[in-house]
Amino acid sequence: MKSKLLLLLLLITLVNKNQAQNNMDSLAKEAAKSEQWQPVPPVVTPGKTCGAPPSDAIILFDGKNLDNFEKKDKSKAAWTLNNDGTMTVVKGSGDIQSKEKFGSCQLHLEFKMPSDIAGSGQSRGNSGIYFMKRYELQLLDNFNNSTYSNGQVGSVYKQHIPLANPSKPPGEWQYYDIIFMRPIFSDNGIVLRPATITVFLNGILIQNNVTIYGNTVWVGAPQYEKHADKLPILLQDHGFDGGNPISFANIWVRPLEN
Ligand code: MG
Repeated sequence: MKSKLLLLLLLITLVNKNQAQNNMDSLAKEAAKSEQWQPVPPVVTPGKTCGAPPSDAIILFDGKNLDNFEKKDKSKAAWTLNNDGTMTVVKGSGDIQSKEKFGSCQLHLEFKMPSDIAGSGQSRGNSGIYFMKRYELQLLDNFNNSTYSNGQVGSVYKQHIPLANPSKPPGEWQYYDIIFMRPIFSDNGIVLRPATITVFLNGILIQNNVTIYGNTVWVGAPQYEKHADKLPILLQDHGFDGGNPISFANIWVRPLEN
């Protein structure tokens, strides 16, 4: 009698175990329905040191030459190439722009404000990164230097005040990491999707997917004007006042779809 009872218990255990396995199998089958195996994200090898370009980046400046930049009139970029792998704005020599054209992209750029402090407000360490030659992310030395908030470092010029001011002192290297999404226009120039931008300065989020309202202008209100899907990235020579010989290093871009 005792052995029969034991056999029964064993059978019940086996049935339960089987049932549990079946339940697990059907659960796994159900879970597989929401698994997405395609597309497989491309393998990208990160740069070896902080700021070094990953394997799929388009390098605009790596310290060797200024060949990937030119002036607006297509003549040679006339900023100074330093022998430490950096370049410096030459006051009055003009803005420089990438020869290659970009729409939406991820941009990494390193910069150093001049340690010989000159000027104040907008006249100290002023440059700018112009996406598509018209949407300026401000570059300014705002370390113990105040100006209007929507024109300080990290502002989308006169459109968005940055969330923070993580400026380092003049003479220290700083870095921007930016995601810029281009605007999309209809054939007749209606804005179907405005541009947006997300910005990290020295690793700190300062613009969180903000909408750009149009060209960043000094005077008046921003407005969109229809333009090509890809245009150069421009770096500003704010040369008409003092204190702006900013240096740059490690500039690279990863184009994004759409
Ligand atoms: Mg500027």
